[in-house]
Amino acid sequence: MSEFQTVRGMRDFLPEEAKMMRYIEAQARRVAELYGYKEIITPVVESYELLSAKAGEEVRSRMFVFKDLGGRDVALRPEFTASVARLVATTLRNEPRPFRLFCIGSIYRYDEPQRGRYREFWQSNYELMGSSKPEADAEILMLTNSLMREAGLRKFAFKVGHVGVLRGLFNQEKLEDKVQSAIMQLMDKKQYDEALKLVEDAGASEKCMTTLRELVELKGSNVLVIVDKIEELVKGYEKSVEAAKNLREILELVSKSGFKIDMTVEAGFARGLEYYTGIIFEVYVLDMDIALGGGGRYDRLIELFGGEPTPAVGVAHGIDRIMLAVQTQKSMQEIGRGKKVVVIPIKEELRAEALKVSQMLRDAGISVEVEVMGRKMAKALEDADRRKMNFAIIVGERELKEGAIVIRNLATREQSTVKIEKILDAIKD
Ligand code: AMP
Repeated sequence: MSEFQTVRGMRDFLPEEAKMMRYIEAQARRVAELYGYKEIITPVVESYELLSAKAGEEVRSRMFVFKDLGGRDVALRPEFTASVARLVATTLRNEPRPFRLFCIGSIYRYDEPQRGRYREFWQSNYELMGSSKPEADAEILMLTNSLMREAGLRKFAFKVGHVGVLRGLFNQEKLEDKVQSAIMQLMDKKQYDEALKLVEDAGASEKCMTTLRELVELKGSNVLVIVDKIEELVKGYEKSVEAAKNLREILELVSKSGFKIDMTVEAGFARGLEYYTGIIFEVYVLDMDIALGGGGRYDRLIELFGGEPTPAVGVAHGIDRIMLAVQTQKSMQEIGRGKKVVVIPIKEELRAEALKVSQMLRDAGISVEVEVMGRKMAKALEDADRRKMNFAIIVGERELKEGAIVIRNLATREQSTVKIEKILDAIKD
């Protein structure tokens, strides 16, 4: 057999995987069409200077950089945004705003290879350029939500923050840009203690330190309440207050538009790319702790590249990771498909819990009927037997205290106590 192998971090896509990848890509194109985004195709190789200008140290240090035969310093693109911003600062500079542009293609970063982390991976990337309005930010969140749904994901959640909150503090404290970037990089890696130390060493006031300590702890899914708390905390830091107000406006728009998006606001959330100026966000699925996508507002990048001042907001979705998540969630659905489940509370007080467990299973694609007749257990089980259900999930007080339920196989009459998060596995077996 030949000794040749793919280079570390690089992969072949065999037919099944290639098909899946093209499927997700097709969904990404469909969503682009639905939201009015036009495709552009930019080069894989760009000048090192362009790519490194505002990417941030984290991305910069992981670029595939080389000299071409003409002696130019070039690199494989570690993201799309710099290329799109270059176009808008040059060829498209006189075109009417807003621009809605998208790209799909391969991206290169010298990351440490592991599940969901490769050195060549694929992104679908959308940029909305020319608007500073919160409805533009809301659109990017909604578009991302649509893409995840179209790709076939049922459960995913957004993590949201706003760079302006922290920048507002740092600017008012007169921290140098370089120091600020270093702090943000540390916060991005959740190294809060180190980050706080840097702030302190840079001579920030005691008030700033107290505010920061509380900010990094502040997070929650009751998003508007969290934003209120942020605003309260940063009182006296004018730009930070403005940032909190901006975040509230965006989130209110999203929720009033009727979009049900599962979201958590984290006041201490930071992202590796240096060019962000406003809202930032990432998308996660439950069983994977790596982001499926991320984006945010960057109002000064195009100017920095010599273009007209053009506020902008965008997002990049990791197609490889979406594939992984879809595979995990889909297989769960397929495993459960066709199995019929009844959920029975042992007593009236546990009705709400029974509804909750039912909903969780439905979200995973499993057909569930919940006992609504208030019957005693024996009667309800008899009825489930008669109707040829496969499993009964019995919600009892004692088990619930342990975060568990009893699952009964109606064919074999075997029953066992199972943790709620393991119900799907139990049904599979
Ligand atoms: P970023 O521009 O860093 O926010 O990346 C956007 C998205 O690209 C991330 O949310 C991931 O889904 C994906 N991504 C980033 N790095 C990698 C990698 N090394 N391998 C696979 N996907 C990645």
